[in-house]
Amino acid sequence: MITKVIPEEKVIATYKAIQRAKRIVIVAHKRPDGDAIGSSLGLYHFLYSFERETFVIMPDAIPANMSILPSSNEILNYELETEKCNSILAETDLVFCLDFNKLERIGELGKVIANSHAEKVMIDHHLDYEAFADIAISHPEIASTSELIFRLICRMGYFADMNLQTAECICAGMLTDTGGLAYNSNSPEIYTIFAELLRKGVDKDALYRHLFNTYKENRMRLMGYVLSQKLEILPEYQTAIFSLSEKELAQYNYEKGDTEGFVNLPLSINGVRFSIFAREEKDTVKLSLRSVGDFPANQFANQYFDGGGHLNASGAESKLSLSDTIKKIKEVLPDFVAAQQNCR
Ligand code: 5GP
Ligand code: MN
Repeated sequence: MITKVIPEEKVIATYKAIQRAKRIVIVAHKRPDGDAIGSSLGLYHFLYSFERETFVIMPDAIPANMSILPSSNEILNYELETEKCNSILAETDLVFCLDFNKLERIGELGKVIANSHAEKVMIDHHLDYEAFADIAISHPEIASTSELIFRLICRMGYFADMNLQTAECICAGMLTDTGGLAYNSNSPEIYTIFAELLRKGVDKDALYRHLFNTYKENRMRLMGYVLSQKLEILPEYQTAIFSLSEKELAQYNYEKGDTEGFVNLPLSINGVRFSIFAREEKDTVKLSLRSVGDFPANQFANQYFDGGGHLNASGAESKLSLSDTIKKIKEVLPDFVAAQQNCR
């Protein structure tokens, strides 16, 4: 048995909202990862049982390795299909907002949803949610939004009806947000859920391989370049920093998703407990931050770059140039690290 995490009244309210709706839209955060896509497609396949017109809209493109998930080819890209998405949203009664806690996390799409008359259900596991939804299912103690989708389906009484596609998508999301059960996965209930997903027929090993080991040669070479030429270790702060400019990325024919997971690599060096990766994009610098133990990567992202996320995995967008972003990180790091030590 697993505990009842989601309050009963929210399960019932969500169930009723689905029953009332004629058209349902599912959205997840910008630069969607395996949990954003896995939870969205998991819910999408589950909603087949209700025979509602359902769409999945992502703010931008999905990474190539996610094309393994069933119906990933049906996902609409708001950036490329803005008008179509807007007309779908104009006639929507219910919007599920998955794996994000603030509308700004979905860019322009957030403004459309804020102005929409549709009922909104947020299902998420990030801290400090913004009160934009009619029903907010917010559980930062749960490792992935996909796990929350599993729990919601069970609590609605539909576990027996859960199809293989739903199970596969949920499994992918749970694997992604725990690095393949490498971190944030000490809860025994995660393994109870995995056992149920396997019983549904999920080929977890094949899924793992597709999610984590089907990258292109270019990515491996870019990784080699980062590790040998770009990685800077600051032992006094137990921190690793590296960056990639647009020009460097272009030299390795960078495509979306190619640097996925790079930020975790320095954490396998003994003594490093904080890793920061700055990647230059067209008009912003994307920061990815990871930490081990109780070092608050999300606090750093929030305090200095208005970002957020989880204790050990966070992100932000810097409005500074790439070099100024790195400069600022190095300037603020000593005080931040000292403050953490003083907290102990
Ligand atoms: P990643 O480094 O994989 O892009 O992001 C890791 C986590 O940080 C995400 O799951 C999300 O919780 C959070 N995150 C990433 N980018 C941003 C951002 O720009 N703003 C905020 N508030 N959180 C972010
Ligand atoms: Mn997530």
